[in-house]
Amino acid sequence: MQMLKERIRKDGKIMAGNVLKVDSFLNHQMDTDLFLELGKEFRRRFADVEINKILTIEASGIGIACVVAQSFHVPVVFAKKTKTKNIAGDVYTSTVESYTHGRVYDIIVSREFLGKGDKVLLIDDFLANGKALEGLAALVEESGAELAGAGIVIEKGFQVGGNLIRSRGIRLESLAIVESMDEKTGTIVFRGDEA
Ligand code: 5GP
Repeated sequence: MQMLKERIRKDGKIMAGNVLKVDSFLNHQMDTDLFLELGKEFRRRFADVEINKILTIEASGIGIACVVAQSFHVPVVFAKKTKTKNIAGDVYTSTVESYTHGRVYDIIVSREFLGKGDKVLLIDDFLANGKALEGLAALVEESGAELAGAGIVIEKGFQVGGNLIRSRGIRLESLAIVESMDEKTGTIVFRGDEA
């Protein structure tokens, strides 16, 4: 998506550890006009599939998922991160290893908000090693709902997540795929734009 790529080139900051910082429009301050366009683009790309629920993970996925959900006119559910395993049986649980924080945590979704008959689109801000999406996909599977696909704002194509998710047969749509980025020169190359 051209508009998004231009924004990443303009405002993205390449940090150590293959981290792309987009705090000025996606992860801290949020550009809701841009979000609206991203939502419309996901709607267009998934126009051929039935979706009745959006699922994301707290915290950074929530803002974008809300706007995407509006363009689908469906509710959005976010998986909560928890330090204590909930054994009450009223939740689905899975485990995620955090890319940016380097630790493992449990994620939960109440059985009340996900289940058989749901057709779920996963939405997240970034795709790196695919752990967050895998954790969300596991929750969907446990619930008996159907996984319609996954929508990602920025995929880092040089990390394993994209291949992992696609090889599992999950339909993945990423609005911008970073093929490479150079911390020293600040250069970002997107998939499809290589010279
Ligand atoms: P994964 O689970 O695919 O390894 O990582 C995805 C999660 O880690 C996303 O939910 C996102 O919050 C975070 N993340 C991974 N890479 C980056 C990055 O380069 N920049 C930012 N801002 N977040 C990232």
